[in-house]
Amino acid sequence: MLVRDLGVFALGGAFVSGVTWLLRERQRDRKVPILSGWPRVVVVGAGFGGLRVARGLAGVEADVLVVDRHNYHCFQPLLYQVATAGLEPEEIAQPVRQILRGIPNVRFRMASVENIDLEKRQITTDDGPISYDYLVLASGSTTHFFGIESVAQKAIGLKYLNQAVEIRNHLLECFEKASAEKDSGVRSALLTFVVAGGGPTGVEFAGALAELIRLVLVHDYTGLDVKDARVVLVEASRSILSMVAPSLQKAAIRALRQKGVDVRTGAAVKDFDGETVRLAEGTSIPAHTLVWAAGVRATTVDATPGLPAVRGGRIKVEPTLQVTDHPEVYVIGDLAHFEQDGAPLPMVAPAAIQQGELTAKNLRRQIAGLPLERFIFHDKGTMATIGRNAAVCQIGRLKLTGFPAWVMWLVVHLFQLISLRNRLLVMINWTWDYVFFDRAVRLITRD
Ligand SMILES: Cc1cc2nc3c(=O)[nH]c(=O)nc-3n(C[C@H](O)[C@H](O)[C@H](O)COP(=O)(O)OP(=O)(O)OC[C@H]3O[C@@H](n4cnc5c(N)ncnc54)[C@H](O)[C@@H]3O)c2cc1C
Repeated sequence: MLVRDLGVFALGGAFVSGVTWLLRERQRDRKVPILSGWPRVVVVGAGFGGLRVARGLAGVEADVLVVDRHNYHCFQPLLYQVATAGLEPEEIAQPVRQILRGIPNVRFRMASVENIDLEKRQITTDDGPISYDYLVLASGSTTHFFGIESVAQKAIGLKYLNQAVEIRNHLLECFEKASAEKDSGVRSALLTFVVAGGGPTGVEFAGALAELIRLVLVHDYTGLDVKDARVVLVEASRSILSMVAPSLQKAAIRALRQKGVDVRTGAAVKDFDGETVRLAEGTSIPAHTLVWAAGVRATTVDATPGLPAVRGGRIKVEPTLQVTDHPEVYVIGDLAHFEQDGAPLPMVAPAAIQQGELTAKNLRRQIAGLPLERFIFHDKGTMATIGRNAAVCQIGRLKLTGFPAWVMWLVVHLFQLISLRNRLLVMINWTWDYVFFDRAVRLITRD
């Protein structure tokens, strides 16, 4: 028995030592020195587009530097689940250094880009200037309040990880305050949540919030009449989810209403003072919460002279994704204005990913002195979930609603998450929520 155990230990030890040696050797291989004569490619933004460029340049004789104001990549399509207490922030984000760790010619610097000097070929950051031979701008978009100052001051956007956590804290605080509130009018305003914007973000957030209230918080706040809590989704145009077929728009409205969401189309927010949301047609909704999912615009690097900014601050690009008169500058993703079939591409992750892949390919070709390729967007469809067992999905002519669309949404989003760890954690959380009607992260994490 003892001899056999010793044998097993010895074999196990040899195996572990072998694996450790192999890993160390691999690590040594990765530390390839960057040659000073290599061209420098600076990629601004470690989002969907920027990361594709960086990964696509692995092994190229170029010194690639990724610059981002955050040290992590965020999977924005699941932000609303962080906001509604379903997922932890770190389950939908990953450090950029970890993502790029295995690529010897790609480095990362955490800095915010403030300015670009196209003539000097230099970007200015809050951490000093950085020179480039080639520049890729992939800094995405930011919340757009359409100049409504009161909304910009008091509403909460749903674009960044910290905003998602802020929304979660705020929602739960509203319930805590309501449970101690004697005045029924104030209590009702605390328990009224207005969501502006009937695009996928607003629809997904409103559906998930209605379920958080109806299925989970109802058991936490037994002293409150949680059934009185209201989620109101307001959309300025005539319907929600404008990018899908009318039949799917109607199905989405039906599903939202079944979950208790008050859907109001043709209703634009005019003003919000923190206690009342005023709509353009004259009505008011007493509410302490306005979540703004009504618009995004390109990030502020568009203010650079020489970059042709068009509607929404997006930068017009050539078919090769380069900027006119600046073949060393590429713009991709939400920041790029690229027209196909007479219309600009939507601000969606697949467009950024596909543009990132082509940019890496074109940079390789440009460095090698070869002709560049033109970008063609391949639309793989649109989907939005409205909560448990409900979603709409349009892929070419295929239109799905209800449970099949929901399962497809789950699978697609799970596989798009960036690491295996995050996929496993999200899958565990989703299964737990589905089986036990629970949301794991009902924490108020601010003082
Ligand atoms: C809540 C939400 C839900 C969404 N849901 C979906 C969905 O279901 N499906 C879908 O296809 N799309 C969805 N989108 C849109 C999708 O996330 C974007 O289209 C996509 O992220 C664009 O990729 P990008 O690379 O252009 O920019 P991003 O992925 O936004 O990356 C930009 C990066 O640039 C960095 N950055 C910005 N400014 C600076 C600066 N000045 N200096 C340094 N770094 C900077 C940012 O920190 C960020 O890391 C959603 C977006 C949001 C906000």
